[in-house]
Amino acid sequence: MPAIFVGHGSPTNANEDNAYTRSWKKIGSDLPRPKAILCISAHWNSEKTLISNLIDPRQIYDFYGFSEELYDLKYPAAGSPELAKQVKELLAPVCEVEYDNNWGLDHGTWVPLSRIFPQADIPVVQLSLDYTKEASFHYALGQALRPLREQGVLIIGSGNIVHNLGRVEFGETVTPYNWATEFDELVAKLIESKDYDKLINFNDLGAAARLAIPTPEHYLPLLYILGLQTDAEKLNSFAEGIAYKSISMRSYWLK
Ligand code: ZN
Repeated sequence: MPAIFVGHGSPTNANEDNAYTRSWKKIGSDLPRPKAILCISAHWNSEKTLISNLIDPRQIYDFYGFSEELYDLKYPAAGSPELAKQVKELLAPVCEVEYDNNWGLDHGTWVPLSRIFPQADIPVVQLSLDYTKEASFHYALGQALRPLREQGVLIIGSGNIVHNLGRVEFGETVTPYNWATEFDELVAKLIESKDYDKLINFNDLGAAARLAIPTPEHYLPLLYILGLQTDAEKLNSFAEGIAYKSISMRSYWLK
């Protein structure tokens, strides 16, 4: 099973027609049908690594000030206690994963999935990001999750390579900040050359990196997908662009 990193951007991508949402629809038709989906979303941050294991997870509308229509959208995917148990066992050598059902499916998960697999008929499990840990820990979790791919589980990292909400600007004619383009292109180059140590040590990548990653939660899901890569595989970009001046929509398909 391939794995994907999705630059999810604005919640409005749940009902807008744009180049990004068209690329999500396309990837949905190109991917083999997964048995289940494990999603690492930028929006579930915790002090431990947590996983949901309900049969019927709730959908979370974790955004504010958007049009009513978005709050009416339903993505009623089932959960998978079986997959949650498997993830817990696979990650045991790296860390203890606890079951936690106070969260659910947040917009980092359901917004892209509502375009990739609109039928919502594939079970979805979310794994949280432990914000107390170093970036190398998140890469190691990705590596430990590799066996799931052989069992038909689609692993999705959902975040944004460049994500600076404090600097966003809306409008048809906005052009990206130079530092946003610079960092987005640097990451693309480092992925191409498989220079993953540099991507893990992103704090050493200079001024553009600091502006692109003011907080790490949107960047870290990418490291899980890098960790999943085997030697023979390549990461191919299936969407790119900078939305609202400071949000990179660059997305990758690992196969
Ligand atoms: Zn987000």
